[in-house]
Amino acid sequence: QQKSEKPRISLLVAAPRGFCAGVDRAIKIVELAIEKYGAPVYVRHEIVHNRYVVDELKKLGAVFVEELDEVPDGVPVVFSAHGVPKAVPHKAEERGLEYLDATCPLVSKVHRQAERQVEAGRHIIFVGHENHPEVIGTFGQVDEGMMTLVETVEDVAALNPDDPEKLSFLTQTTLSVDDTRAIVEALQARFPSIVGPKGEDICYATSNRQEAVKSIAKSCDLVLVIGAPNSSNSLRLVEVAEREGTDSYLIQRADEIDMAWMEGVGTLGLTAGASAPEILVREVVNRLEERYVIDEQKIETADERMVFKLPRGLEAA
Ligand code: SF4
Repeated sequence: QQKSEKPRISLLVAAPRGFCAGVDRAIKIVELAIEKYGAPVYVRHEIVHNRYVVDELKKLGAVFVEELDEVPDGVPVVFSAHGVPKAVPHKAEERGLEYLDATCPLVSKVHRQAERQVEAGRHIIFVGHENHPEVIGTFGQVDEGMMTLVETVEDVAALNPDDPEKLSFLTQTTLSVDDTRAIVEALQARFPSIVGPKGEDICYATSNRQEAVKSIAKSCDLVLVIGAPNSSNSLRLVEVAEREGTDSYLIQRADEIDMAWMEGVGTLGLTAGASAPEILVREVVNRLEERYVIDEQKIETADERMVFKLPRGLEAA
C-alpha cells in the first residue's frame, strides 16, 4: 500500500563506471600480500583514493602510512596505484624492505616515457594537477629540473623553455579529456616541434567514464558521482556532468546524499569514479529506494574487459 505512494524516478546508471583494471589489480596485490606474508602489510599512501576500500583492507591487516620512514623494518610494503618517485623503491632497497609495486601499468608506461624523453635530451612539459601523488611519482622518475608542470592553457602561454626545439609533453592519466585536448593543442601551437604521445596519456578508464557520464548527463536533472574528494578521475566526472548543464555532486557514501537535492528530480544519473567499488553504487540505489520507486536503466557506452597481470610471485598466492 505504502509503496505505491512513493514518487517514481528514472535512474540512469552510467557504464563503464567504478573500478578500473589498475585499481582492481592494486587492491588484489594488497589482499594477496596479506595472504602471502600475513598481517600486517604496510601500504604507502591510500592504495586507491577510496575510504571504503582502505577501511576494508585495514580490517584484513593492511596498515596505511604516508612515508616509507613509518614502515618498520622487516615488514612488506606496497606502493599505491598512483606510482612513486624512484627514490622510494631505492630507499626500500637500502633498508632491505620487501616491497610490492601496485603502480598501475598505465602510470608505469608514462614513467618509462619520461625517462626516454630525458635520455633523448628533451625537457618535459607535464600536464597534470599539482601535488597529486601520480604527478609527484612521475616527476620523481627524472632528475629535478627536467620536467615542468602545466595545469591550464594559461600556464602554456607563460612557459619559457631554454630550448623550444627540444621539448616533449606527457600527461597525468586521470585528467579531463576535453581540457587536456585544449592544453595539448596550445602546446603544439606554441612549440610546433614538441614531441608527445598520440593524443595524450589519459587512460582508457578515465576517458570511458567521462564519455559514459557525458552520454547520460543531458537527460538527467541531477548526476551523483560516487568518489573521494582527492580522486582526480571522480572530480572530473562531476565537471563533465556540469559542463553538460546538469547539477552534479560528488558523494563518498549514500548517507552524504542531501535529499533536498532530489527536489524536482525526475531523472537521476549515477556513476562512480575508478576507485569506487560497485557496493557503494548499490548502497546509493538502496537508500533512494527507501523514498522512491526507481526505474533503473544501465546506459553503456563502452565494453571494458581490461585486466592487468599481477606482479610475479603473487599470482600463485
Ligand atoms: Fe590505471 Fe587509469 Fe585506473 Fe589510474 S584510472 S589505475 S591509470 S586504469
